[in-house]
Amino acid sequence: MPDSTQSFDAVVIGAGFSGLYMLKSLRDQLGLNVRVYEAGDTVGGTWYWNRYPGARCDSDSYIYCFTWDKQLLQDWDWSERYPEQPEILRYLEHVAARHDLKRDIQFNTRVIGGEFDEKANLWRVRTDKGDEVTAQYLIAAVGSLSDTNLPPFKGLERFKGKWYHTSRFPKEGVDFTGKRVAVVGTGATAVQAIPEIAQQAKQLTVFQRTANYCVPARNGKVDPDLVRSRKEDYEGIVQRVRESFFGQEHYFIPKSALNVTAAEREREFDRMWDAGGFAFWLANYQDMFFSEEANDLCADYIRRKIRSTVKDPAVAERLIPKGHPYGTKRQPLDTNYYETFNKQNVLLVDAKTDGGIEEITEKGIRAGGKEYEFDIIVFATGFDAMTGPLKALNLKGRGGRTLGAAWAEGPRSYLGISIAGFPNLFTITGPQSPSVLTNMPVAIEQHVEWIADCIADMRKAGMTTIEAKPEAQDQWVGHVNEVVGATLMTRANSWYMGANIAGKPRTFLPYLGPEGVGGYRKKCAEVAAKNYEGFALE
Ligand SMILES: Cc1cc2nc3c(=O)[nH]c(=O)nc-3n(C[C@H](O)[C@H](O)[C@H](O)COP(=O)(O)OP(=O)(O)OC[C@H]3O[C@@H](n4cnc5c(N)ncnc54)[C@H](O)[C@@H]3O)c2cc1C
Repeated sequence: MPDSTQSFDAVVIGAGFSGLYMLKSLRDQLGLNVRVYEAGDTVGGTWYWNRYPGARCDSDSYIYCFTWDKQLLQDWDWSERYPEQPEILRYLEHVAARHDLKRDIQFNTRVIGGEFDEKANLWRVRTDKGDEVTAQYLIAAVGSLSDTNLPPFKGLERFKGKWYHTSRFPKEGVDFTGKRVAVVGTGATAVQAIPEIAQQAKQLTVFQRTANYCVPARNGKVDPDLVRSRKEDYEGIVQRVRESFFGQEHYFIPKSALNVTAAEREREFDRMWDAGGFAFWLANYQDMFFSEEANDLCADYIRRKIRSTVKDPAVAERLIPKGHPYGTKRQPLDTNYYETFNKQNVLLVDAKTDGGIEEITEKGIRAGGKEYEFDIIVFATGFDAMTGPLKALNLKGRGGRTLGAAWAEGPRSYLGISIAGFPNLFTITGPQSPSVLTNMPVAIEQHVEWIADCIADMRKAGMTTIEAKPEAQDQWVGHVNEVVGATLMTRANSWYMGANIAGKPRTFLPYLGPEGVGGYRKKCAEVAAKNYEGFALE
């Protein structure tokens, strides 16, 4: 039975990486009475929901995990460089069991509202199961990429076949054998799914709106000697990724791509390409994100790779991105993605050359005036990133002001962790924090630890509320925009810019600090050390 009377010290929303560690910290370190609400029927978040073929992480597994459980870092063995979704889910289930977390998590329960009661200094939280509880602290661990985006395609209800969104795939899987399948989208998820589906389907048609620059993942077993040496060096690794730019052991080449010989540049490009993963994206020449000319040299290398891999020159041209600089969209990692378009059973329908999707019909998809027939349509259309899951909470802060109203023209936060007018609300990996530009467990752990320390400090000092000051928030938003404004990142119609959602305000959502997540960590520590500078404490 739902409980409508309980009060908690803290309510945490979400039981992915963020919610699990937040619960552990508040309950086991601070001794708080915590309730976690999770919409899914178990823990895992991203790794519970995203079950499409080929779903796996793109961060290297040795750093795509928690670092606070030192023993687990030694005990857990990942099967490959980028484990698949079931393995990551198994890992998070193991963490939950090892730390007895599930007893404080209420599953199959969605938070649908929260109001800050200014008289009682408490959050009143409502769920779709009828719970109405109070909490002093409300912590949104709702994920940056958890609010599924299914664009309102005309006629979808008419389609007689089956359709799925990649982030809501059925647990029992989907058998594509002998089927005519459409994949809509060519982002990071689609790039993982397309080669897998193409192996099963009788016919696969890929609907592309914007071509992406893909780089090779180079997945596989990790050399046991390397695994051993990493385990011996975990302390060093953790320190390095925490202080790094992107939460990974990737560092820019401290040179301009324009100031080296063509031969040297080609050698470096080959080296990064062969290393696979995010190296080409995050460990390239230091001016790649700043100089169009430098950027185009990197883009040109990938264009040449596409042309040499895809046999049909007309298809290759359509797969070559146009109109946005390299690296300004989430980097897809590719395992046989470009090769897949050499298969006889794979067709590319490109919005620019063949015409975009007009409607879904009973039999399939009409694009560019032509009807394509399918048994199954897979929408790999991503998420309402970063702001979507937070806005869906229907929060009301001081004076009954809704978060939707406060963010009508785009998100405004202080450090991406706190919002003026919403006391005692914390947003883990919220907009305007490094979040999705990092290897996320690093950003998540930093936020969780900062929030737990903040709550501990408040309790020690007898303070009951903390709230971002509007002027500190304004300054932060200005800083976030100024830093990214000096880069090429705002030149793409990316989900980082909110451009994948019709009507969403165009603003760069994460924080690309001048020193990345490492510099941001220092900034947050300084704020805390200066008695929570920029916050009002009562
Ligand atoms: C396909 C895919 C691949 C990815 N690969 C990588 C990668 O390689 N490296 C990387 O760093 N990051 C990757 N990410 C990002 C990934 O989301 C994070 O790494 C991490 O899993 C986020 O954890 P989280 O707990 O913050 O959020 P999530 O894992 O998204 O968990 C949030 C949880 O909150 C729940 N929730 C949301 N709203 C409510 C509500 N109102 N009420 C109740 N529950 C709610 C959701 O059900 C969800 O379970 C990937 C994301 C996707 C989608």
